[in-house]
Amino acid sequence: MAKKTDEARIKITKQSLRKATRLFKFLKPYSLKFALGMVFLIGSTLTSLLFPGLLGKLVGASNNTKVGPENFFNLDNINSVALVLFGVFLLQGVFSFFRILVFSEVTERMLADLRQHTYNHLIRLPMEFFSARRVGELNSRISSDVSILQETFTTTIAEFIRQILTIVLGIALLSIYSVKLMLLMLATLPVMMIAAVLFGKFIRKLSKQTQSKIADSNIIVEETMTGIVNVKAFVNEIFEVKRYTLATNEIRKIAMKAARWRGAFASFIIVAMFGSIVLVIWYGVRLIATGEMTIDQLVAFIMYSVFVGASFGGVADLFSQIQKAIGATENLFEILDEKVEPVGMDHDQPRVLLKGGVQFEGVSFSYPTRKDVHVLKEVSFEVLPGQQVAVVGPSGAGKSTLTNLLLRFYEPTSGSIRFDNRPASEYALDALRSNMAYVPQEVLLFGGSIRENIAYGNPTASENEIVQAAIKANAHDFIMSFPDGYETLVGERGIQLSGGQRQRVAIARAVLKDPAILILDEATSSLDSESERMVQEALDRLMLGRTSFVIAHRLSTIKAADVILVMENGSIVESGTHFNLIEKENGLYRHLSKLQFQNQEA
Ligand code: ATP
Repeated sequence: MAKKTDEARIKITKQSLRKATRLFKFLKPYSLKFALGMVFLIGSTLTSLLFPGLLGKLVGASNNTKVGPENFFNLDNINSVALVLFGVFLLQGVFSFFRILVFSEVTERMLADLRQHTYNHLIRLPMEFFSARRVGELNSRISSDVSILQETFTTTIAEFIRQILTIVLGIALLSIYSVKLMLLMLATLPVMMIAAVLFGKFIRKLSKQTQSKIADSNIIVEETMTGIVNVKAFVNEIFEVKRYTLATNEIRKIAMKAARWRGAFASFIIVAMFGSIVLVIWYGVRLIATGEMTIDQLVAFIMYSVFVGASFGGVADLFSQIQKAIGATENLFEILDEKVEPVGMDHDQPRVLLKGGVQFEGVSFSYPTRKDVHVLKEVSFEVLPGQQVAVVGPSGAGKSTLTNLLLRFYEPTSGSIRFDNRPASEYALDALRSNMAYVPQEVLLFGGSIRENIAYGNPTASENEIVQAAIKANAHDFIMSFPDGYETLVGERGIQLSGGQRQRVAIARAVLKDPAILILDEATSSLDSESERMVQEALDRLMLGRTSFVIAHRLSTIKAADVILVMENGSIVESGTHFNLIEKENGLYRHLSKLQFQNQEA
């Protein structure tokens, strides 16, 4: 059993590494620039490694008398050494400047591509993907993953390479000064290395836990901000504050646990490093006494040891950051590996024009997240082009699900849907959807102007077409009553407009799209009668000459419909016109409409 778990772990590591290398696809277009950055990186590392040697020379030349200009090119000349040192710093400064500049440019371009690619992918994922996840979680996961990658590519990778170079070249230089001393120095380092790797692994696990706790707490903020009306109306502020306090306390606890281990890690490195420096100095002074080393060599040796030792410590820390980045890449690629809907991003392709005939033949359906619940059962009906269909039934009967299948947000589990006598699958998904318009119950407007929100129905529409659509939707007058007219900003999610106004903007959007099939989810929340009349009038105008499916709550819509589909428990239990159905003794429709009349009279 234990073996099995271990194997799984190894497999995951391999997979995550493979996924991480896929990131280089995004780096490829900038590989030349990246190589240039590497040149600067190597340059700055090499120049930094000149410093300890030259410092040793400077100390060694302290009692040297060869300071005249004739000895300028002699490195025993204290003035020359100081000048060369200055030159080395200058060069290192220049290299470092360009290294940071070039790496940042490469990273920013690469991340812009990655962000764009992820978003392009995300927006084309099927509804199935979104209904299984919370948007807040998705959003914060992607943004935190991308910022981890940003940190990694701008600094971590470069630092990692610099430290490795410092270690390799530093050890080579140390062996030139004294092999014995170098071996003593190295004898202390592997202990640090092993501890560092183990520590790093453990800390990585803790940081992952912190990340996911942060994501959880972000969800609470996002959910309560979007549902702020509910929070306030139910006076649940205290409840939400408590919920958030619990979440933030969790973050603090885990983050503190991680901090304690990181602190222990840092102190361990410091103690071990300074301990080994003292050991090296002690042994070095003994070597000077026996004449195996000079004082300037020891100074240079100690400096190189500090460089190498610090790099060992740094590498372990950077290594855990790179591991974190591998985790983040894995998360991102998990999303990028999800299959997208076959929706073209090209708006210029010729539009298929539907007449509006729709047939459902034995359509059954279960949501992918709840496969055992049969939401639609053998649903069959036929609608002729231009007919008005009202779908009625108790809550949870499957009305919205029916429209979800029409829009092909989901595929039926069995049975088939036909448009103009051709199976839905024979049409391109975007061709079908561009023939439909959907006016939902809760209209969501995008932050921006009213004009932009109407134009969402057809981004290529002219100014005049937008105004005409607004007139048809009974929206023109209220829009013009605002000082900024069509340029009025609607605020985030359209909160600066009333429910009825938002609905009329959504209707104008649908008018502009000029679809063959219209899907309306009537708002259950009651508008005042004037507002309702305006909306209804606009809807009647919109439905004229188009096939329309109305999830109906108001009798006025139902009475005028050509066909009424009465749903219960995922099946169509009755269908016909209002006058047919109202005659049916013990019929569900008769019962439902009686209830409504009673409510209206009450
Ligand atoms: P209402 O009038 O209350 O809007 P409805 O008739 O439109 O109800 P649907 O929204 O189609 O009903 O829901 C039918 C059933 O499918 C319900 O039992 C509901 O819980 C379930 N359901 C709806 N959406 C999903 C989903 N995304 N994943 C899983 N089950 C779902």
